[in-house]
Amino acid sequence: MSLITDVLTYLNIDFDEEITEKVFDFYQLLVERNKVMNLTSITDHDDFVIKHLCDSLLSCRIYGFNKGSLIDVGTGAGFPGIPLKIFFPSLEIVLLDSLNKRLLFLDEVIEKLDLKNIHTVHGRAEDLGKDPSFREKFDIGVSRAVAPLNVLSELTLPFIKKGGEFIYYKSSDIDDELSSSKKAFDVLGGSVPSVFNVPLFETGIIRKFVVVDKTSSTPKMYPRKAGTPSKNPII
Ligand code: SAM
Repeated sequence: MSLITDVLTYLNIDFDEEITEKVFDFYQLLVERNKVMNLTSITDHDDFVIKHLCDSLLSCRIYGFNKGSLIDVGTGAGFPGIPLKIFFPSLEIVLLDSLNKRLLFLDEVIEKLDLKNIHTVHGRAEDLGKDPSFREKFDIGVSRAVAPLNVLSELTLPFIKKGGEFIYYKSSDIDDELSSSKKAFDVLGGSVPSVFNVPLFETGIIRKFVVVDKTSSTPKMYPRKAGTPSKNPII
């Protein structure tokens, strides 16, 4: 338990025993279900605390997650969406993924941890980004380890309201990725990206957050049909 305490102190996040119990329940369920489905390669407890929990929450060093609607695009086994919900319960969260079995796992997590105002949505981001129930409905978006930025921009920005922002979790070497995505962000209604470097607790790893403001509405033709953004990114 003391590693979690150290990590949360590092992140300057308030917590109590009920919250740390939720983290432990999430970890246990993840490891248990991981035996029968492919959820994560990280199963050691301390690795989970640093590489999943701390990494997911690291964005709170650059953004105040007090309230608002948030979408996690390509959430997988719930990262970063589930840790953000546990520690910032007033967020209204949608966890989106195209792989339904991971979402069934997340439904179980939501029930077991008794999390409120969070639900899973199954589908391709390209399809849901055109659906009026999701298009331009979110204040904040997050996404970790899903696609390069020139593709990811089209999968994500259509969900964000004008005035909202998207936080992309990226790793160290992003200069080329960043320069080849500037046109896409501009076309899709985003600002010039800003980059923030945040060290991951006691690892020497630097997480790079790319933050894009939604400055105007995404043109109707985007996102294009499922698969097109990755085959033919906006350049
Ligand atoms: N964000 C999680 C994490 O960091 O652990 C999961 C990352 S996993 C490598 C990528 C996830 O994105 C997968 O669960 C995959 O199903 C989902 N994904 C990829 N392309 C997608 C799309 N076009 N629409 C919705 N989900 C997508």
